[in-house]
Amino acid sequence: MKIVFDAVEPGEEALYKEALTGHDLTFLNEPVRAPREDIREAEVFCLFVSSSATREIIDSMPNLKTIVARSMGYDHVDLAAAKERGITVQYVPAYGARTVAEFAFALILNLSRKAYAAYDRLREEGTTDVKDFEGFDLAGKTLGIIGTGKIGKNMARIAKGFDMQVVLCDAFPDEAFAKDMDSHYCTPEDLVAECDIVSIHVPLLPETKHMINAAVFAKFKPGSYLINTSRGGVVDTKALVEALKNGTVAGAGLDVIEGERALLDETALLDDEHKDVQEFQELVAAHALVDMPNVIVTPHIAFNSREAKREILDVTVQNITSFIAGSPQNTVKAS
Ligand code: NAD
Repeated sequence: MKIVFDAVEPGEEALYKEALTGHDLTFLNEPVRAPREDIREAEVFCLFVSSSATREIIDSMPNLKTIVARSMGYDHVDLAAAKERGITVQYVPAYGARTVAEFAFALILNLSRKAYAAYDRLREEGTTDVKDFEGFDLAGKTLGIIGTGKIGKNMARIAKGFDMQVVLCDAFPDEAFAKDMDSHYCTPEDLVAECDIVSIHVPLLPETKHMINAAVFAKFKPGSYLINTSRGGVVDTKALVEALKNGTVAGAGLDVIEGERALLDETALLDDEHKDVQEFQELVAAHALVDMPNVIVTPHIAFNSREAKREILDVTVQNITSFIAGSPQNTVKAS
């Protein structure tokens, strides 16, 4: 099989080679964002979240049999285009269930105690003024968790360790879990009105696209904080910028934002093919967020722990070998 891996990190290449001997492996250091002649013959396209499997890219690989996403989300794969060609789509349904929750708390603590801002000032100016860095305790505050799957549940467990109250929201409430957490489920609108910090952990689906929009921001408890480690598209970025500007939201910790791919490679938008106004607007909004002193933006790294990456690698190898053996694991149902 001719297998193409994009955006592979240095240490990973040897591990894939060891696990997939006998196959024709191509490793790219960079993400794939447009058709490329050198990967045209791929039968397996194994991609990371920084890449896209758009219709155009899929169509540029005539022998493609399966798309293997090295991620939990697969919103960067055009499922309809894959289905039309009978191409399987596989993904990593679960990994590092604690990894992303721990990172979401890193964002929360950075906002609540301004640790990064203080360090940045000290490094840039050689001094800090303590009064500029007053924070707040998490104990006694209320954390709203939207999406109480594997990551959301770990958020609740960690929050309890900080003596926080938690309020939950999910399309499929787990009442036993709510009882364990001394909590309750409610609608997104009621949750944001009640909570000091809102953390999002739902997948990006047509139903969750812009789930947190201007109407929902209008209901936020004034001075509250938003954390997003799920997918950028769950939050309407333009509405978030407005909510931060008018003070409805006091600050945000964002590992994911709409326009995150454009932010990492802005020159791609200079290509004549990029005429989509929305993409440019998302890029401008992303810059506005990065420049705000009360916002922390990280480049989609919540997954990035040694342990979680090893899990992704192991499941990815299983996905590829199971596909080759004729009984593919972890297929996306719509594909
Ligand atoms: P999960 O499938 O265990 O949980 C998702 C939860 O969202 C489920 O309980 C589901 O019922 C709920 N949900 C779905 N649609 C909903 C809706 N319309 N309204 C309310 N709730 C809804 O997933 P998980 O393992 O907890 O991961 C959550 C998301 O985190 C993933 O989908 C992925 O996009 C994101 N993620 C990000 C990173 C990163 O590096 N930033 C890493 C891993 C996962």
